[in-house]
Amino acid sequence: MNKFWSEAVKRTEPYVPGEQLNDPEIIKLNTNENPYGPSPKVTEAVETELKRKLHLYPSPGADELREAIAQYYELEQNQVFIGNGSDEVLAFSFMAFFDQDSKIRFPAITYSFYPVYAKLFNIPYEKIPLNHDFTIPAADFCDTEGGVLIANPNAPTGLYLTIEAVEAIVQDNPNCVVIIDEAYIDFAPASAVPLVKHYPNLLIVQTMSKSRSLAGLRVGFAIGDSGLIEALNRVKDSFNSYTIDRLALAGASAAIKDDAHFNETTDKIAQTREWLTGEMRNRGFTVLPSHANFILVSHERQSAAVLYQRLKQEKYLVRHFNKPGIENHLRITIGTDEQMTLFLKALDRIMETTATNHYEE
Ligand code: PMP
Repeated sequence: MNKFWSEAVKRTEPYVPGEQLNDPEIIKLNTNENPYGPSPKVTEAVETELKRKLHLYPSPGADELREAIAQYYELEQNQVFIGNGSDEVLAFSFMAFFDQDSKIRFPAITYSFYPVYAKLFNIPYEKIPLNHDFTIPAADFCDTEGGVLIANPNAPTGLYLTIEAVEAIVQDNPNCVVIIDEAYIDFAPASAVPLVKHYPNLLIVQTMSKSRSLAGLRVGFAIGDSGLIEALNRVKDSFNSYTIDRLALAGASAAIKDDAHFNETTDKIAQTREWLTGEMRNRGFTVLPSHANFILVSHERQSAAVLYQRLKQEKYLVRHFNKPGIENHLRITIGTDEQMTLFLKALDRIMETTATNHYEE
């Protein structure tokens, strides 16, 4: 604490991102990155842009990318907003749609950035407990006064809420904004984007970091009624006119146009997820049925904290959240089949030695 800090800084508890270690031998399964890399067309577009106009500011409205996303989802440009990662889109949304006089609701177990934004912007919030099976109690999100924020699929559970359930929540909150954070939706059955045409209070937030394998480029977007998008633009233009640089604009536009690479890699990740889920269950782990590019697992007789450390020693980095309700779980990002085969071998070695130690005790 420093005497020069503002009240906002004093009350903030910053988000702690997953570790980004420099060890080249580490197999990184801790921040839900996509192991396949972006479409080759992205690299081409970025290289071309690199030689073009870096001396000029980029488009403040990210127009070309907005048009590409609007076409992809069959919407108008004024229904799309682009941000520097969906984290920025979410931060702007807190400023644009939530007020200090009523509580917003989000699940008690969800993306841990949400309470950070709430504290920074002084927005009161209520954490709604999940059901015992980690599903979201949709009825508890109806009829709120301040607004709703739900990740779908939820993180770090990976569980998916049906479009019908999402629609019911949106319908039952006609006087406030419902934000659905679809960071992992491309690994799940269906997006709620088609609903934005019918509901002026629904904002969908998505990212290029996961399914498009562009975590390093920092591009996220929101889709909603033009009235909501205008609010986001008002916040952005009161903060930083050029949030997306020229390379990111070129790369992300190329990514959204390459359906073949997208379909191939997202299908592959979903297949590996199903295979890994079975393999983990065969080893005695409880695995939630994930619709994301990660799984959340636990084991009755193995401490997640110990497993996390042992895996790290073996150079496999997974995520352990020391938080109520999930303190004995590990979140494992889906890598390639080869990475996951090696991971399972390391896990077997660890389980064997822990079992022996147990026996010797
Ligand atoms: N929402 C959720 C649920 C996430 O897990 C993440 C990734 N950590 C984000 C949003 C932010 O993603 P990005 O800023 O890379 O778009």
